[in-house]
Amino acid sequence: MNSNRKIVIALDGFSSCGKSTFAKAIASRLGYIFIDTGAMYRAVTLHALQIGAIAGGVVDEEAIVRSLDDIAITFRFNPLRGASDIYVNGELVEGKIRTIEVSNFVSAVSSIREVREKLVAMQQEMGRSRGVVMDGRDIGTVVFPDAELKIYMTADARVRAERRYAELQAKGDNVSFDEVLENVISRDKADMSRKISPLRQAEDAIVLDNSYMTVEEQMAWFDREFGRVIASLQ
Ligand code: C5P
Repeated sequence: MNSNRKIVIALDGFSSCGKSTFAKAIASRLGYIFIDTGAMYRAVTLHALQIGAIAGGVVDEEAIVRSLDDIAITFRFNPLRGASDIYVNGELVEGKIRTIEVSNFVSAVSSIREVREKLVAMQQEMGRSRGVVMDGRDIGTVVFPDAELKIYMTADARVRAERRYAELQAKGDNVSFDEVLENVISRDKADMSRKISPLRQAEDAIVLDNSYMTVEEQMAWFDREFGRVIASLQ
């Protein structure tokens, strides 16, 4: 391989697997940009809720498709988080996109073809110069099928719900554990069974089950699996 060659690392997997935490750690190690594609689908969902395109539990797909032209999604690096914050039309929405309300509708919004087309095109543009760690559901299969490294993450559903529940509690979101577990399970099902770009393991992806692993243990796993490839890029 050429020296200092940059690659794309695709990290796909189930909801609340800790993909973003792991992706951030890998990006910081390699000096790469971390892109959380779930945040983009969440941002479109938040916007749909704000303009009433989702109301009374009903998702108005046509109104969401029409709204796509009015949404400018941008990222700005936040050194305090060591990751980029997401903005919609210039408004910082990082704190607003991770509520249970957004989580409850994001799978429906992300199954709309036009939404996916717009966001996938943006993601491909962001990774055009390589040097990115992108986490999502379809990165290794659709967005960057040619990604040099592909990881498919999974973890026990209860463990994942516990992690998400702790995060929401810490933010003061008053939600029950059962509601979080139900959301994790139903999103998995919706993401795997949708017609367009369903969540599935790319043939060349390596599976990581991180149910009982710390981030340090995950990084040690990363070094064992990919250390040689990474070293050859330097
Ligand atoms: O990663 P996160 O759980 O924040 O993603 C939220 C939702 O966005 C997922 O449940 C899925 O419906 C959708 N998503 C997607 N494709 C991606 C990333 C996320 O459909 N690449």
